[in-house]
Parts: sequence; structure tokens; C-alpha cells
Amino acid sequence: MGKPTGFKEYGRELPSKIAPAERVKNYNEFVHEYPAEKLNEQSARCMNCGIPFCHSGCPLGNVIPEFNDAVYQGKWEEAYLILNSTNNFPEFTGRICPAPCEAACVLGINKPPVAIEEIEKHIIEIAYSKGYVKPNTPVLRSGKNVAVVGSGPAGLAAAAQLNKAGHTVTVYERDDRPGGLLRYGIPDFKLEKNVIDRRLQIMEEEGVKFVCNTEVGANGGMKDFIDQHDAIIMAAGSTIPRNLNIPGRELKGVHFAMDFLKQQNKTVSNISFPDEKILATEKDVIVIGGGDTGSDCVGTSNRQHANTVKQFELMGQPPADRNANMPWPTYPMVLKTTSSHEEGCERFWGINTKEFLGNENGELRGILVSDVSWELDPLGRPVKFVEIEGSERELPCQLALLAMGFLHPQHHGLVENAGLELDARGNVNAIEGQYATNIPKIFAAGDMRRGQSLVVWAISEGREAARRADEFLMGKSSLPSKDRVR
Ligand code: FAD
Repeated sequence: MGKPTGFKEYGRELPSKIAPAERVKNYNEFVHEYPAEKLNEQSARCMNCGIPFCHSGCPLGNVIPEFNDAVYQGKWEEAYLILNSTNNFPEFTGRICPAPCEAACVLGINKPPVAIEEIEKHIIEIAYSKGYVKPNTPVLRSGKNVAVVGSGPAGLAAAAQLNKAGHTVTVYERDDRPGGLLRYGIPDFKLEKNVIDRRLQIMEEEGVKFVCNTEVGANGGMKDFIDQHDAIIMAAGSTIPRNLNIPGRELKGVHFAMDFLKQQNKTVSNISFPDEKILATEKDVIVIGGGDTGSDCVGTSNRQHANTVKQFELMGQPPADRNANMPWPTYPMVLKTTSSHEEGCERFWGINTKEFLGNENGELRGILVSDVSWELDPLGRPVKFVEIEGSERELPCQLALLAMGFLHPQHHGLVENAGLELDARGNVNAIEGQYATNIPKIFAAGDMRRGQSLVVWAISEGREAARRADEFLMGKSSLPSKDRVR
């Protein structure tokens, strides 16, 4: 343990950020680095608990007290090796993870938790700057040929692990560049795309092959594709957005959030797209949905100089001290306030969108809404909303962005043509921990199996599914599993 009294001496401090008015002028990341002594102090806050709940709070099983200790002692290579032993891509999670590890930090019982996510980001960025992050090409190749379908964090983690085990790995991606939602969902102000490219270059040097602009299973039978590979990891994401089928849905100006975000991410990277650009500029924007995707629409709308930005959430507002009455560990990712909200946004809670209102040209001009209250079941869980009488009103709006989550993976094409069995929610059926689908030699990981989730879960599932595929191919696997780390 670095400093036994550190948690008593130092409070939690996060690095400073560029002020909202300044950072909305571009799409760059805006969180500064810690000065060296602050990083040291923050790592010293770790109590090195006898039972480190942060390990199990993290879906990757990150061994957090150990890397905090190495940071405190300035042993950067050791810190990097510890972090890298459980997480292929700390540069992604260190930037955008809602940090369930921090929610599980024991210090969080009566003080703010250790700033684990920021420490993680600093470890990996220092490791890159010091040249510790190098391609690690396997010495022996197994002769087995593995396909990974989808290049989001689940597919990339599976590919990195299977390559490490010596298999020849090809990642197939239907988009023009690898990265999945890291590239075309999450905006640059949360994750600059050179961070992905830097990692992809290392993976390529290690021997992973990327084939883009290729939608596997789009053109009928999958028999040849399946026959050509010794194992396949399906990691094609949960890409079907939840729609809002109310009157006026067809109006010009009502769009799915992902259509809006993807275009802006492409614009920042100077990648052209065929469709007319969806723009928030000088419009009254309403984002429907209070999660991460909604927040990203808020931040993007402000950067496009929207006239006003509002965000709707159907659920009621959580109390400001919502964790106060909750047993520890707490859940920071529920309807959280993000940096995008700091940049300008009026948030509405307990509001129902009833109708999109158009003008004579078929363009959106407003939204008819009403306030709602929630009926609770005996356990206090909201079960049914009821409109509050007299609350119906119109709000001006020329751009509505639907950010209400994703239903399941796309079924037509890949899923249907491969004959993959689905679970009750429409995700690919494969038991967590096993990842095997109904088709021999095909495994599934990430949002495609789990449903819409988080980057950290996608990486975790990619790693674990890779281990199962390696066992299938070789009879045993020396790839690590989070269950072994704990
Ligand atoms: P994806 O990232 O969706 O990747 C799947 C890939 O498969 C895609 O590239 C797709 O093009 C490709 N594909 C699909 N079908 C085929 C096919 N037939 N052939 C070849 N390729 C195919 N999580 C966080 O932890 N923090 C955040 O801040 C956060 N912000 C988010 C913001 C937005 C706007 C969205 C939409 C999600 C966000 N998430 C966030 C969730 C996170 O991005 C996902 O949980 C994660 O990316 C899932 O990873 P995945 O690899 O399973 O799938």
C-alpha cells in the first residue's frame, strides 16, 4: 500500500476541464492532465482494502489497489503491466467508462471514492508516452483461422486476445473504418479518434487483419464463411434503435440520434457521407432520452450552435442525493449529469412526448408534450405513468433526436442467415460465461449478446468469449479470465 494515511490526508480531486464556453468551439477532448503531485496524491487515497470490492465492481476484474500502489511509487511500467493484464484498452475505459469500480470503492461509504478512472487514463497515456505499449506479436502461430464479426470494443478485445493466443485473426467490419460505436457513436469530445487509430495500428502490427466495408451475412447463406474459419466471434453490436411511433414521426426534422452523431463524427474525421447533413445549427433541438446517447446529442448540438437544447426523460427526476438512501455500492450511471449538460441544456423529467407537430411543408415545428407522474409497485419501483391533468403544451422544435436506447442486434442478414438463435429480448442467445451460440464454433459477445450496455462490458465479454473460443480450438486456454484474477 502506497501511503496508509493517504485517504485521510487527501480529498478526491478530478483534473480541471476547459470551460464550457470555450470547449464547445470545437470537438476536441477537454479534460486536462493531473499535475504529477496530484496524480500521486489521488493514488495515495486507495486504502488497499482487505477485500477490494473495486475488483468485482469492474466488469474486467481490474486489480485496482495494485496499480494504485505502483502509481504512488512512480513505477509506471509496473502500473501499466498490471492494468494491461486485465484490460486491453484502458485508453477507452479511462475516458468514457461510468466507472462501476468507483461505485464499489469502499472509501465511497463515507467519502468520495478514489478517482480510479482518471488514474487508469493517466497510466495508459504515460505508458504510451514512455514507449511501454508495444506490439506483442505471438512467437508461435496455431494454424487456426478465426473470424471476428464487428470491430467495436467487444470484437477488438476478442481479436487482441485470440491473436495473443497465436490464432490468425481477421476482423470484418461493415463500416468504412474499425471501432464500432467508439468511432461512429461516441463523439470526439469524449474520445478523439486518434486514440482508436493508435491502438488499431498496434493490433495490425501484432498481426490482426481488418477487412472493412464488408457486411458479413448480408448476401444470403453463411455456409462458406463458416467453413472458411475454425471459430467465429459474433460481436456486431445492438444496432436497432427504439422508435417513437407517435403522430408526426414522418416529419422532416425527426431523426434517430445515431444518424445525427455518426454524421458529425464523420465530419470531424473528414469522411464524406452520401446523405444530407442533419444539423442543429440555429434550431430549437429536443433530445428525447436521458442516457449517454442523449447526452452526446446535447454536446454535439451545442457545438453545432443550436438555438436552444432541451432533453426529455420520461422517468421522474432522481433526488440530487439519490445515492444517500441507497445501500452502498451506489450506481453512478443512472440518468447521470454529464459534461454535456454543463455546456447548456434544459432538462425535463417526467415528460411524455405525445405528437410531433409539422408545418405545411412537412417540417417539424414543435412537439406536443405532457407531464407525467409514476405509479409505484409495493417495492417502490415505477411501473406505470399517468398524465398530469392540464399539463399538455407545445414546445417549439425544429430538430428532434430520438435517443431512447437500442432494442437488439439487426436480425436480417447476419443473424438470420447464420441461423443464430435469439433470446427473449431478441439478442443472440449465448450464456454469459460460455458465450457459445447454438451453432458449433460460433461465439457471441458484447451488445449483440448482452443487449445495449457499456464499453467496459463489451471489452470484458470479448476477452471472455476469446478464451472460450481458444479452449474450443485447442482443448485448453492459457488466456486470462477475470474469474481467475479475483
Ligand atoms: P459496437 O460498438 O456496436 O460494434 C459493433 C460493430 O459491428 C459495428 O462497428 C457494426 O458496424 C459492426 N457490424 C454489425 N453488423 C455487421 C456485419 N454483419 N458484418 C460486419 N460488421 C458488422 N458506453 C460507455 O461505457 N460509455 C459511454 O460514454 C458510452 N457512450 C455511448 C454513446 C452512444 C452514442 C452510444 C450509442 C453508446 C454509448 N455507449 C457508451 C455504449 C457502448 O458504446 C457500447 O456498449 C459498446 O460500443 C458495445 O460494443 P460492441 O463491440 O458490442 O458493439
